[in-house]
Amino acid sequence: MSPHFLRTFRQFDIEEVKKSLMIAGDLTANCAACNALGLDPYKTAVCPECGVTFRYVASRRLDSHPSERFQLARRLAEKRPDLTLIDLSDYKSATGDKSAKEFFGL
Ligand SMILES: [Zn+2]
Repeated sequence: MSPHFLRTFRQFDIEEVKKSLMIAGDLTANCAACNALGLDPYKTAVCPECGVTFRYVASRRLDSHPSERFQLARRLAEKRPDLTLIDLSDYKSATGDKSAKEFFGL
């Protein structure tokens, strides 16, 4: 039987994720820590601008093309076994919640 990709839920320290996350667009990626642009999501291991080591990747394209999710997961598993694919909207809502909480002192 061929392997399948199933989405899972795990707890993450969002600050740690932010320091090692690459956000991929259609062709290139940017660094979530410093916003460096034009990174190759299949090759860049360390941010050339701020020096963080990437451990996570999220994709903007999956928001607009959710049917490509498993193709992307397969490609990343082959080319970037060092990266964990996380959901960009989960990341955004977690970071948005966190800044809202800090803003309101909760
Ligand atoms: Zn960076």
